[in-house]
Amino acid sequence: MSIIDLSVIIPIYNEEENISLLYERLTSALKPLDVRKEFLFVNDGSKDSSMELIRQLAEVQEEVKYIDFSRNFGHQIAVSAGLEYVKGRRVVIIDADLQDPPELIVDMWEKMDEGYEVVYAKRRKRANETVLKKWTAKWFYRTLASITSVEIPVDTGDFRIMDRKLVDILNRMPEQNKFIRGQISWAGFRQTYLEYDRDGRHAGETGYTYKKMFKFALDGITAFSNFPLKFATASGFVVSGISFLVILYTLIQRFIFKNYEPGWPSLMVSILFLGGIQLISIGIIGEYISRMAANIRNRPLFVVRDSNVSKEKVLIEDEAV
Ligand code: UDP
Ligand code: MG
Repeated sequence: MSIIDLSVIIPIYNEEENISLLYERLTSALKPLDVRKEFLFVNDGSKDSSMELIRQLAEVQEEVKYIDFSRNFGHQIAVSAGLEYVKGRRVVIIDADLQDPPELIVDMWEKMDEGYEVVYAKRRKRANETVLKKWTAKWFYRTLASITSVEIPVDTGDFRIMDRKLVDILNRMPEQNKFIRGQISWAGFRQTYLEYDRDGRHAGETGYTYKKMFKFALDGITAFSNFPLKFATASGFVVSGISFLVILYTLIQRFIFKNYEPGWPSLMVSILFLGGIQLISIGIIGEYISRMAANIRNRPLFVVRDSNVSKEKVLIEDEAV
C-alpha cells in the first residue's frame, strides 16, 4: 500500500498558461525532498484548456492526481475538496499562478521537522498587483484581526504546509462558507511562518474578481466574529438614546415653551438617520441568516465530474513500523 508523505493541493481556475511551468518548478524544487509525493490539481470549472493539460500530465506522471468540478465553485471550496481527497502525511496548499514560490516548500518542510503542525507563508512584499488590491487586502486583514477572537495572521494567504492532524480536523468542519486560513488558526496547534516576497502572476488573469473578494471577506468576518451583530445592537442603543433626548426636547418645546415651528430639516435628518441605521442592522443580520440558511440546507459543497483519485482513506501506517 502506498503511503504518501507530501500532498500538494493546487486549485485551478483558467490557468492554462501556468500549469506546465508550475509543475516543472514544483517537481524541481521538491527534488531535494526524497519523499513520496502526490500533486492534486482541483479544476474549479475552468473555461480554458486547463483540464486537458492536467489530464495529459496525469497520463504520464503517476503522482499527478486531479478532481474536475462540474462548474466553478470558488477557490476556498476547491481547496476544501483537495483536503478531502489528499492522502499525504503533510499537505501543502499552493496557488497555480506561481505567485507562491514552490521553492519555499522545502524550507517549510524543514521548519515542520522542528515540531510545528503548520508553517504558513507570510508576504513581505507584493509585486505587480494593483494598488487597490493591496490596499483592500491590507485593510481587510487588519480589520479582521481586530474584531475576531481567533488570531488570524495578517498578510497571509492559503500558501502553507500542514500536518495530517490539521487536515483531519478541517475535514470535520461542516461550514459551507469556507474561510480556510481562519479555520486553521482556530484549530490551534503549534503554528509558525516563513516570510517571502510575493511575485506577480506569471500569466493569465486573476480569478478573484472584486465580487468574489467581497464574498470571501464577508465569509471570513461572519464565520469568525460576531462584532457586526454587536455593532448593530450598539448603534441601535446609541440612536435610541439620542432619539429619546430629542423626543424629550420636542415635548418640552411643544408643551412648556409653546415653541413649535414646523421643522422639516430635523424631521428629515432623523428619519433618514434612523432609516439608515435600521437598514444597516437588517443587512448585517441578513448576512448571518443567509449563511445559517446555507448550512441548514446542507448541500454537498461541490460536485465532481471526473477524478482519478478515490476518497477512500489510505491507512497511514505507523512510521516506526
Ligand atoms: N481559483 C480557483 N477558483 C476561483 C478563483 C481562483 O480555484 O474561482 C484559483 C486560481 O486558479 C489560483 C488560486 O485560486 O490557483 C488563486 O487565485 P488568483 O491567483 O486568481 O487570486 P489572487 O492571487 O489574484 O488573489
Ligand atoms: Mg494569484
